[in-house]
Amino acid sequence: MNTTRWNRREVLGGALAAGALASSPLKLSFAQPRADTMTERREFLIRNAYVLTMDADVGDIAGGDVHVRAGAIAAVGRDLAAPGAEVIDGAGMLVLPGFVETHWHVWTTLLRSLSGDKQEHGYFPTSRTVGTFYTAEDMYVAGRLAAAEAVSSGITFVHDWCHNVRAPEYADGALRALTEAGIRARFSYGSPTGASNDATIDLAHQARLQERWSEHANGGLLSLGLAWRGAATAATLRDYEVAKELGLPISVHANNFQSSAGGIQQLATRGLLSPGMQVIHAVWCTPAEIRALADNRVNVSVSPYSELRIGFGFPIAADLVAAGVTVGLSVDTPALSGNADMFGIMKAIQNIENGRSRDEFKLTARRVLELATIDGARSMGVGDVVGSLRPGKRADLIMVDTRAVNLAVFTEPAHMLVEAAQPANVDTVMIDGRIVKRAGRLTAVDVGEVVDSAARAFADLKRRSGWSWPAQI
Ligand SMILES: [Zn+2]
Repeated sequence: MNTTRWNRREVLGGALAAGALASSPLKLSFAQPRADTMTERREFLIRNAYVLTMDADVGDIAGGDVHVRAGAIAAVGRDLAAPGAEVIDGAGMLVLPGFVETHWHVWTTLLRSLSGDKQEHGYFPTSRTVGTFYTAEDMYVAGRLAAAEAVSSGITFVHDWCHNVRAPEYADGALRALTEAGIRARFSYGSPTGASNDATIDLAHQARLQERWSEHANGGLLSLGLAWRGAATAATLRDYEVAKELGLPISVHANNFQSSAGGIQQLATRGLLSPGMQVIHAVWCTPAEIRALADNRVNVSVSPYSELRIGFGFPIAADLVAAGVTVGLSVDTPALSGNADMFGIMKAIQNIENGRSRDEFKLTARRVLELATIDGARSMGVGDVVGSLRPGKRADLIMVDTRAVNLAVFTEPAHMLVEAAQPANVDTVMIDGRIVKRAGRLTAVDVGEVVDSAARAFADLKRRSGWSWPAQI
């Protein structure tokens, strides 16, 4: 299909090593260094692609090259010289930064499409009850499935908002999955699902993790944060204070239900909004709350498919953007969103905002693409590391093959990506200079094994939980 000299044995070697680890009984000891299951970082030259750098100074480069060396972007331009680099043919390809996903309850990926049709089978009763039956291995298995889907659909960064840390090994299982996938991520440490707000999270374990984070960071790909429950009790406020003391970024759901309107105002009044913090949803906001977010440089994560599907209401991304708030896009939970399709999420946001405002030009495709890349990265505090293709940044990028029935004919690239492209069009994914998807296939994971182990884990969960599933499940 193209001229890339691709070392198949090397790729399979990585996949086999990952499979061997996965099939062994789960021993979640992080004290020892783990085997590197990833493909190595080589020197690449992507040649003659349409490059959307998402860098305001550089813009797009038709017939452009991207030179990747030692995991970083060495150069972007035309007719680059890179003797010795492995050449990847970019003809017919759109090259852009990998998508940055900003809030995903990764563990719920095992509960895909399991928000039922009646009150008793709804998202909250199902996830909160079944979640209490999860094992540490379920966290690992769900994480592998989520990371594989993310990479497959061009997402190179995820924010794992982990509100089911039932014991230290649950966090370890989730982190191990992210590590093996080679994905860039923030892991936000939370409480066990269904736990009382009168108990703090496991602050001692969180502090231990942070203290020895270099052992968990997977070469700088992973970082730690707090999945905060809000200012409900003295215990949850303690979680907030400790995160501040540890210097961890804080993320909180607010103003999602109409009945939770005013939550952001309360945080503002109590002085609990601060730069770099993330608020999730913010569907029901007064103009004063939007101003408070902007003034305090609080970022917002918007997840249109969960917000619509569960009936929170319509996202207000355009209002937030207009007020100067940095907005990122998110999956939230496949239990509601079904999948992790960032193309679909971008398209939904554009359509919702234009429809809501009755304005064809309210949110442009280019602006939406920024939310999914550079703004998402800024919102997660990694805007100086990834999110655009600029020399010196880490090489997180994707190649979208436009020679597909749903993408022909080649017209305006940003519009094609937001309106027409699908995950199946993602030909190549590179994270930190390592290729994790090539020619449409994942190279660091054995998809069959990931899917089979997820099916086994769900079957066990179904049996153990005794949950009253809808009849057909
Ligand atoms: Zn959420």
